[in-house]
Amino acid sequence: MKAEQLAERDGWICWLCGAAVDPDAPLDAPHRGTVDHVVPRSRGGATVPENLRLAHRRCNGRRADTLPELRWPTDLAALDTGDLWTTIARLVRRPGSVEIAGLFPTPERARAASTWAVDTACGFVGGEWRGWAEPTGVGDTHVVRLTVSGAADPGRPKVADGSDARVRGRGRRSSRSRRR
Ligand SMILES: [Zn+2]
Repeated sequence: MKAEQLAERDGWICWLCGAAVDPDAPLDAPHRGTVDHVVPRSRGGATVPENLRLAHRRCNGRRADTLPELRWPTDLAALDTGDLWTTIARLVRRPGSVEIAGLFPTPERARAASTWAVDTACGFVGGEWRGWAEPTGVGDTHVVRLTVSGAADPGRPKVADGSDARVRGRGRRSSRSRRR
């Protein structure tokens, strides 16, 4: 899919910053429209329409191969976390195995984190995700553990359209699918 086709579909709006993309921008201009992969190719993302978004050259470059949607929300006050995408990708390859995704200061925060992580994982790769909080025995701290069965290939993220995967910090949180 070429940038122009993608631009028509996405309404000439950069999905990363939300600003307009100028159809007449010179080829090398930072505000030129480019094809961005939601799940980066380097992380197994496929070049299929569902995984493509229009982005400014500068926004695309700044983002590099990170998955901004997979940054843990700051209000969860995580004490320590792994990279969620790495955890997701590893679990998908080993159905039924369990991994610690993060450490949180209270059981409430850990439960909220578990819900967020499960919703996020479902939104990206599908499958029967399960997350739960467990006390560490040190103060109130709890870890969040994640597991999955029947997960889809992470190279084909289940991202329906531009309103679904949303960069944190811009606009509303996605009301992303519960597990199905
Ligand atoms: Zn932009």
